[in-house]
Amino acid sequence: MKEKIIIFDTTLRDGEQAPGASLTFEQKLELAIQLERLGVDVIEAGFPVASPGDFKAVETIAGSIKKSIICGLARCLSKDIETAAKALHKARNPRMHIFLATSKIHLKYKFRKAEDEILALATRATRKARKLCPDIEFSPEDATRSDRKFLFKVIETVIAQGAKTVNIPDTVGYSYPQEMYSLIADIRDNVPNINKAVISVHCHDDLGLAAANSLSGILAGARQVHCTVNGIGERAGNASLEEIAMVVKTRKDSFKNIFTSINTKEIFRTSRLVSSLTGFVVPPNKAIVGKNAFAHESGIHQDAVLKKRNTYEIMNPKDVGIDKSQIVLGKHSGRHALAKRLEKLGFIFSDKKVNTIFKKFKILADKKKEVFDDDLIALAEEETKPLEKKCEFVSIKSITGTDIVPEAAVTLRYKNKVVTASSSGDGPIDACYRAIDKLVGVKAKLISYKLEALTIGKDAQGLVRVELKINKDNVFGRGASTDVLEASAKAYLDALNKKI
Ligand SMILES: [Zn+2]
Repeated sequence: MKEKIIIFDTTLRDGEQAPGASLTFEQKLELAIQLERLGVDVIEAGFPVASPGDFKAVETIAGSIKKSIICGLARCLSKDIETAAKALHKARNPRMHIFLATSKIHLKYKFRKAEDEILALATRATRKARKLCPDIEFSPEDATRSDRKFLFKVIETVIAQGAKTVNIPDTVGYSYPQEMYSLIADIRDNVPNINKAVISVHCHDDLGLAAANSLSGILAGARQVHCTVNGIGERAGNASLEEIAMVVKTRKDSFKNIFTSINTKEIFRTSRLVSSLTGFVVPPNKAIVGKNAFAHESGIHQDAVLKKRNTYEIMNPKDVGIDKSQIVLGKHSGRHALAKRLEKLGFIFSDKKVNTIFKKFKILADKKKEVFDDDLIALAEEETKPLEKKCEFVSIKSITGTDIVPEAAVTLRYKNKVVTASSSGDGPIDACYRAIDKLVGVKAKLISYKLEALTIGKDAQGLVRVELKINKDNVFGRGASTDVLEASAKAYLDALNKKI
């Protein structure tokens, strides 16, 4: 019989804990809708007690998503558990995920508690959570560094109190595949009531082994795996969803009788969405979703792939949703052709949104002859951002040259008014950013600025990515235009909009 690996996605919780990744509430909802389309079984939507924003996100996602299980995180504290239950009350399939550290180092330095106190705390918390939610998952935090005997005892206790899933976290990314395998095998052999629960794994990538460790866990009998899209997460990140799903699919010979319900054709689109919402660029050499993952540079390889694809290609790019053509549309292309192409690229919009994108497309097609897929993706991604932009770009004028002080005048729509300010600066971009600062009144420090060409050709759109520090937070923004100065202004405003 075939056995399913439950995919527990924590992009919205652990993923969002990645430094600088903070998402707005609308962005979280949009991502949750895409995760459901991708076919994930469980969506960990947030940590409700952490902030009112997290609470609202979990509550809204719980009320909107019907198929996937919606999960909220809680520590073993009454306040956490009650808040999580409240946030989940609208969910059709709610799950509460409670966690408590079990390793000696955490017990000694974090809690200053003895093992029997930890056991009592886990018992009380699981019992309380079970009363408020039918589906409880328990994580003994730092499990891979915990004393095995004590770990078995904790697992047995929480299962006896009604936990249906026990998740084994390699919280600090310290383990390696054989060790993870033997840990899961030992849990199966030594916890008497283990057949009453699903074993899950949660691996971090500090040593680059998150996906390998998770897969070892599966081979040893784990039937749920925690992962994130593009592998984002705390520090070096979590196990990446696309890698787990594609290993199970590609290596059916070794992962016998195992499957996931991931619709792999949605992988690329989901990866793009996560990258554009968080501002985290996917490295070109990233497995499955990197720009070069299916690019063959060597002539010998190219020749062989053309003769028979699987000489050098173990996966079909179409299976992960990559279907690219070169030149697509020009200024004579109609709205229908645009909508069709957007759909091919994975963007399904309402007629109203297609109209908005079509207007922008016409303006772009006037500026550049050939509109490529990457141009369309940039336009579409602008539309997938939250509707409510507090400040929006209108226009920019700048004077610059070798022997003059650069000046820029920026016009924005801000708080429903059209406003203009000008400033001088070290360069035209600096002048532009100073002018925006005057209008918005926010102190932002530019941490990094990157410019790349979106497609080929002298008329290619420039894509600008910026990282700003506002108060203590780092925020990312991106903007594209055939005019580099305009792209720079849009990227700056994109980042500002996340904070004002
Ligand atoms: Zn984690």
